[in-house]
Amino acid sequence: MALIVQKYGGTSVADIERIKAVAERAASTARQGNKVIVVVSAMAGETDKFTKYAHEITDMPDEREMDLLLSSGERVTSALMAMAIQQLGLKSMSFTGRQVGIMTDSSHTKAVIEEIDASRLRKALDEGNIPVVAGFQGINEFSDVTTLGRGGSDTTAVAIAAALSADVCEIYTDVVGVFTADPRIVPDARKMERISYDEMLEMASLGAKVLNGRSVEFAKNYSVPLVVRSSFNQTPGTLVTMEDRDMEKTIITGITHDKNQARITLMRVPDRPGIASTIFEAIAAANINVDMIVQNVSSDDNATDLSFTVSKADSNKASGIIRKVSDEFGGKGVSMNSDVAKVSIVGVGMQSHFGVAARMFDTLSKAGINIMMISTSEIKISCVVDVSRIEEAVRALHDSFNLDKS
Ligand code: ADP
Ligand code: MG
Repeated sequence: MALIVQKYGGTSVADIERIKAVAERAASTARQGNKVIVVVSAMAGETDKFTKYAHEITDMPDEREMDLLLSSGERVTSALMAMAIQQLGLKSMSFTGRQVGIMTDSSHTKAVIEEIDASRLRKALDEGNIPVVAGFQGINEFSDVTTLGRGGSDTTAVAIAAALSADVCEIYTDVVGVFTADPRIVPDARKMERISYDEMLEMASLGAKVLNGRSVEFAKNYSVPLVVRSSFNQTPGTLVTMEDRDMEKTIITGITHDKNQARITLMRVPDRPGIASTIFEAIAAANINVDMIVQNVSSDDNATDLSFTVSKADSNKASGIIRKVSDEFGGKGVSMNSDVAKVSIVGVGMQSHFGVAARMFDTLSKAGINIMMISTSEIKISCVVDVSRIEEAVRALHDSFNLDKS
């Protein structure tokens, strides 16, 4: 008998018919003699609907209130799912994050799981239930509800799988696995049989939203085998696991893109030591992650332009902070561009190959796509381009690196 954690994303539970279909799936896994824990997302569109409501009230909703608001979507699904499973003649109970002991830090809207007390889940399993857990949420030390950020239900599922030493964590979604690029954008993208934690981590953190990055980190740290597959059919999915010798050796694993980017530019700040640290300390103090940074060389006026990217969600907060800093330094103002996106090529194999960057830039240039910012590491190269060209960029790079051929 295996212990299996099954996570179902928003499209997999989008309406009552889908919830019933997913309940059948969980029930049949249990009937085969397995212990099953189900983790659910909010029904597709719910989270966006709540966010829209909040923004009809204010541009910058209080994050504590946002968390309570957003966490309700997953609760709705979990209760409905438990009912649907009961209807099939099996025992089931729904639980909120708090009820299954998911403790997080206090960074509202992007909280980090610190601890899970799995005793309640163990008890529910021992009593023959299929526990259904509302994903994406926990509580902080003050018992306030926190949420885990976009894709947070993936992290709930993997964290529960780790806490209970589950045999596998299955991530059910609307595609049949992890592809060499988003299959909605690149029709001839190739599904991977297996991918290593490290490569998946890199792809996820660079925008392949099929898995949340933190969930992959968790899976790696606790050696939880992850399977990504579709809840709409029986096609075998992609196994995310430890790297082994059988894994295909490729230079480039995949192309990812991320539209959730905004570029903030400080114009003409004085070019002297300490400026960058002041700016980025202020941003870090507000709990905002900075992605790429570009500082231009200064010209005659001994001032420089400094650009960086943050997620769209943080962009208003970040530019507010930066305006203050710019005023203190006597800068020439701050501009924000939300019409940008990041395209990346990812692959652990590229560290031993020359010419990958050159090929990427050449491909974009031949497509007439202007590169605004570049960043590289040993296993990825990212370029910021205009959002209107992003899909074209992904397709051109997928083609140029021959990723459709196995
Ligand atoms: P869920 O609601 O089930 O969590 P998500 O929308 O978060 O689903 O993730 C699934 C989506 O991820 C797919 O519909 C696909 O468009 C997108 N995606 C992006 N990059 C990839 C990739 N490399 N492989 C598979 N899917 C990808
Ligand atoms: Mg998701």
